[in-house]
Amino acid sequence: MTTLYTGNGPDKSGFFGEFGGCYMPESLMPALQDLEREFNIIRNKAEFWTEYRQILTDFVGRPSPLFYAKNLTMYAGGAKIYLKREDLNHTGAHKINNCVGQILLAKLMGKTRIIAETGAGQHGVATATVCALFKLKCTIYMGETDVHRQQMNVDRMKLLGAEVKSVKKGRGTLKDAMNEALRDWISNVDTTYYLLGTGAGPHPYPTIVREFQKIIGIEAKNQILLKENKLPDALVACVGGGSNALGLMHPFLQDTNIKMFGVEAGGKGTNSGEHAASISKGRVGVLHGNLTYLLQDSDGQILDGHSISAGLDYPGVGPEHGILFETGRVTYVAVNDEDAVNAFQILSQQEGIIPALESAHAIAYAIKLAKEMRPEQTIIVNLSGRGDKDLNTVKKYLSGVTE
Ligand SMILES: *Cc1c(COP(=O)(O)O)cnc(C)c1O
Repeated sequence: MTTLYTGNGPDKSGFFGEFGGCYMPESLMPALQDLEREFNIIRNKAEFWTEYRQILTDFVGRPSPLFYAKNLTMYAGGAKIYLKREDLNHTGAHKINNCVGQILLAKLMGKTRIIAETGAGQHGVATATVCALFKLKCTIYMGETDVHRQQMNVDRMKLLGAEVKSVKKGRGTLKDAMNEALRDWISNVDTTYYLLGTGAGPHPYPTIVREFQKIIGIEAKNQILLKENKLPDALVACVGGGSNALGLMHPFLQDTNIKMFGVEAGGKGTNSGEHAASISKGRVGVLHGNLTYLLQDSDGQILDGHSISAGLDYPGVGPEHGILFETGRVTYVAVNDEDAVNAFQILSQQEGIIPALESAHAIAYAIKLAKEMRPEQTIIVNLSGRGDKDLNTVKKYLSGVTE
């Protein structure tokens, strides 16, 4: 096993060990270098972070509470379970943290138009929201299949003033939307800022997104120290592209006694071929400009991910998770659709909190983990979003209709 990675990446070329990098067409290299340069400037500017924090406080509603889930703890019977309530953010998930940071960056770079990709529509809604706030033109790329599955989020984006472009290529899901957004960026790079939604993509995006999501872990660390007078014993978060997990975990990486668990979507089971467990079941390859774990067949063709939660079905994962996996710092596990739907109901009934189906994967694993731990130990689970958007999906699943 390589030496423990404690979050000091990437190197100058954007690599976290062997993962990451910037595998992009020549035409985009100047734009990515611009972005990197500007980000490195603001990264060390106190005024930038003051403005970012101010918007998070006044507009997003941060800090998000760290809630001791007493009933869930009793239900599980073991370690104390705390929930980091990202579901209480404006727009209902953690995605807005990253959007606030990147829109400030876009403004500083003098860009007049924002583009983004979206899968379930959560990142699209968060992007359209900050574009309305900052009066910037907004175009969201969304796969045709997702447009039909997530009509409500399409309506929200339009109401917020965004143009939603339905992508008919491929299977019409997130991977195809991301390809189209990159294509748009290539032709409009002078005026346009690409606001990427998760810790994946070419360097410097994985670092940018991580730095803007780190607020989750920074707050959680202060909060748990106030409540428990000690650091937690374990952290649990779901992993789609990996941004909410990194946001929670990164500020704790140097505390090597804390165990960390990334929960991937096990879909219909990790041996069924219908899942989105890119780390547990994938292989290393290049997609969307970075080298990372991907779902692919023996010829290197990217496979479609499956999960009951649309936010977890991306067939890859951000490159920093690659090194966290290979060095053993984070353990990656999979939770299938059925167990996620169960946890969705359990948290609703035990605590009066309806979690996003994505977050329900983390809850399901945390219940299992808590049972194996002692009552004086603590777990922080990232409750990445709220579940109102998933009621129909769960209803259908429970009545036996599957997509
Ligand atoms: C998008 C989304 C995720 C997955 O994305 P990450 O980048 O892995 O965090 C998880 N939970 C919710 C609520 C989401 O909207």
